Amino acid sequence: MSTRTPSVAIQQLPRSGIRVVYDEASKYPDCIRLEVGEPSFPTPSHIKDAASEAMAANFTRYTPNAGIADLREALVDKLQQRNGIVAKPDDVIVTNGAVASLYTSLAALVDPGDEILISDPSWPNYFQMTKLLQANAVYYPLRLANDLVPTADDIEAQITSRTRVLILNTPGNPSGAMIPEARLREILDVARRHDLWVVSDEVYDEIYFDRPPVSLQPLDTDGRVLSVFSFSKTYAMTGWRVGYLVGSPEIVPHILRAQEPTTSCVNSIAQKAAIAAIRGDQACVAEMRNAYAGRCALVTGILDDHGISYSKPTGAFYTMIDISRAGMSDLEFVSRMITERRVAIVPGSAFGPGSGNFVRISLAASDDDLKVGISRVAEAINEWGSDRAVAS
Ligand code: PLP
Repeated sequence: MSTRTPSVAIQQLPRSGIRVVYDEASKYPDCIRLEVGEPSFPTPSHIKDAASEAMAANFTRYTPNAGIADLREALVDKLQQRNGIVAKPDDVIVTNGAVASLYTSLAALVDPGDEILISDPSWPNYFQMTKLLQANAVYYPLRLANDLVPTADDIEAQITSRTRVLILNTPGNPSGAMIPEARLREILDVARRHDLWVVSDEVYDEIYFDRPPVSLQPLDTDGRVLSVFSFSKTYAMTGWRVGYLVGSPEIVPHILRAQEPTTSCVNSIAQKAAIAAIRGDQACVAEMRNAYAGRCALVTGILDDHGISYSKPTGAFYTMIDISRAGMSDLEFVSRMITERRVAIVPGSAFGPGSGNFVRISLAASDDDLKVGISRVAEAINEWGSDRAVAS
């Protein structure tokens, strides 16, 4: 038998369920797309202008692995002003999106066979990264009764002698939930007691509806928290691929070593654009935030009118809708929504094995699409549920 086979890790890597829906929905041009998790806005023009200027000035070469000095300084200011995180430029690494921050952090923290705690539901890439690193993902539950906010007890119950890292995500994808400060403190106590690293994914830090989220790092007393941020969502810059992480000198230099072999550095032009984003007028951020808040109110209003349960988003731009009343699996529900009602949404099981009672919808669609799409989802839950009740 040939030994030229793909690695075991890559063979075991599942596809993201979000991409599966994306491909299926693309077969139906009239399908309303509520599955995509990226801002519906263009990148603000002052950011694009800065990129054009950088290109015209031939700022087109490799940069230092950790990012250009001006950007790291701008990030230090942003972290202090908006997240309450006190850091030095050397504590910050600019990465190819938050994805690369997360992957290189995990690569620096775990060995094959170690366990990484991730929430169920959670953004599927955590599970995929864990698999690629030949570590084991262990899920802790998020419960609708707790508004999908994790509890310290649920996390602690999953810890074993192999647990190395706890991943938190606030505001959360797909939950739309924010972890309040008191809960963050309880969870951090658990991490301290079991001597775990904590990777805090805060890419939605500037997308919130009521009050801003609390960052974990200011509550950290002993350098165990790595915080990850991104330009993708805040500035509608998903395609530019700029993210960053901040952590203690104990671990950041080790993560930086993983940057050279994997990505070397972030696109030089995108780094200049990122400086313009951070240093420039923040009105664009508030405008987008307000638009998401308006869509959130629209969606929750429609769901309330139909008597459907869901997790009320307090940040990010997603909500998880409870479809248990429809009396079918999430996969069947999603497939029928595409073929019969022309609405694309993501099955909850794409986010974790215990989340099959949910579907995720994204608020990053137009008001009109949301109005029609959510009404169709709500009607389907009620109609298909009563069809089953009559049949049985
Ligand atoms: N973390 C979460 C929770 C996300 O939802 C996403 C993107 O959807 C990312 C990280 C990745 O962000 P980036 O585009 O910066 O890689």
